[in-house]
Amino acid sequence: MIEKVVIANRGEIALRILRACRMLGIRTVALYSEADREAKYVRLSDESVCIGPALAAESYLNIPAVISAAEVTDANAIHPGYGFLAENADFAERVEQSGFIFIGPRPETLRLMGDKISAIQAMKKSGVPCVPGSEGPLGDDGTENLRLATNIGYPVLIKATGGGGGKGMRVVHTEATLLNAISLTRTEAAAAFGNDTVYMEKYLGNPRHIEFQVLADQHGNAIHLGERDCSLQRRHQKVVEESPAPGISDKLRRRIGERCAEACRNIGYRGAGTFEFLYEDGEFYFIEMNTRIQVEHPVTEMITGIDIVREQLRIAAGERLAYRQKDITFSGHAIECRINAEDPSSFLPSPGCIVQYHQPGGPGIRVDSHIYNNYSVPPYYDSLIAKLIAHGDTRELAMARMRVALSEMVVEGIKTNIPMHEDIMSDAAFQTGGVNVHYLEKKLGL
Ligand code: ADP
Repeated sequence: MIEKVVIANRGEIALRILRACRMLGIRTVALYSEADREAKYVRLSDESVCIGPALAAESYLNIPAVISAAEVTDANAIHPGYGFLAENADFAERVEQSGFIFIGPRPETLRLMGDKISAIQAMKKSGVPCVPGSEGPLGDDGTENLRLATNIGYPVLIKATGGGGGKGMRVVHTEATLLNAISLTRTEAAAAFGNDTVYMEKYLGNPRHIEFQVLADQHGNAIHLGERDCSLQRRHQKVVEESPAPGISDKLRRRIGERCAEACRNIGYRGAGTFEFLYEDGEFYFIEMNTRIQVEHPVTEMITGIDIVREQLRIAAGERLAYRQKDITFSGHAIECRINAEDPSSFLPSPGCIVQYHQPGGPGIRVDSHIYNNYSVPPYYDSLIAKLIAHGDTRELAMARMRVALSEMVVEGIKTNIPMHEDIMSDAAFQTGGVNVHYLEKKLGL
């Protein structure tokens, strides 16, 4: 049984988790840094604990502070949200060793999937399609590495197994630059991730980013909730997400979704998770698994009617999945715009006081946000201030509702990327659907 949950996060996701807990009658403890004292979720939670100064390294990433907050409040579970400690296997282990329930996968799973090479190897074993590549770490034998690249075919991508956030990758177009690129990526990976292991895979020129949501309980049951298209990105950061992905047939969705669910059963996965794929010329290629709730989970919730955070809590409590695969149906189309506190032309963060806030509404509109009138956006964290989600029977209706909602949304006092979203929603190629991961940067002239 989960009785009291420590929410080890901030911003909109802390509020989202708090709402799911309250709905299930679970008590909550909000953790906050000195910069988040006035946050909405802190006020709404049953209890709250300040865990340190504004800097995340000293508060939201401070493992001993998080654990002792759980101890002093007598909580029995910890939800890590996304970012911060969510995919940190050492944290999950400490949580469990201290006698708390970690609302997420087992620490071994976080370790397995946190290393890109072991993740790919586990997926291949389960029949999940992967990008053609070295299928293991690159050695120091230059001749062998050159032969490998020739077999895969240029361009190839050198990737750090411990990489993340779009860092630790290098595209190589010709044989002449391969060996140098490998050693450069190694050096950078050692400095950035404390691990110089790199591998090689085929570089896909114009892929879309399509990912599958899964849920797995502790009794060997696993299902998929379909896919999301997150191809609109800037600097590998997702900007707009939608579900279903335009142009993906039911048959293909079923085939790939089933493989993901099967992989969950094979690795003993627990909780909510996402299989990220690149999609090109009708083929899916697994790139990595996210072992946590994701920012873009609401689009899946809108078309399946499933509260994914509620399921995370139920699964962590040891309950069985409430749904079988045949119970899952997809209704209509949903789109999410990530509203950031940033300058729409320079993309520089724009923290500060929101002097005027009006939230849009109407049929099919959902806003996941922690902001309010006179809330001050702190400069220390991610600039996401709201997620605006539109649902409709058709993609056209979802887009139309999103356009109206964007035009209604007022955030004054700081700059936001609302104008960019308005521009995207009226873009002809976006309206057609199925643009690739480079489209947004090209459109923005970057
Ligand atoms: P990270 O953990 O840093 O997010 P990913 O493996 O998810 O790393 O890759 C991040 C992004 O890099 C992808 O969304 C995609 O745009 C690009 N990418 C990764 N692998 C490939 C590949 N083999 N070919 C082309 N682009 C790739």
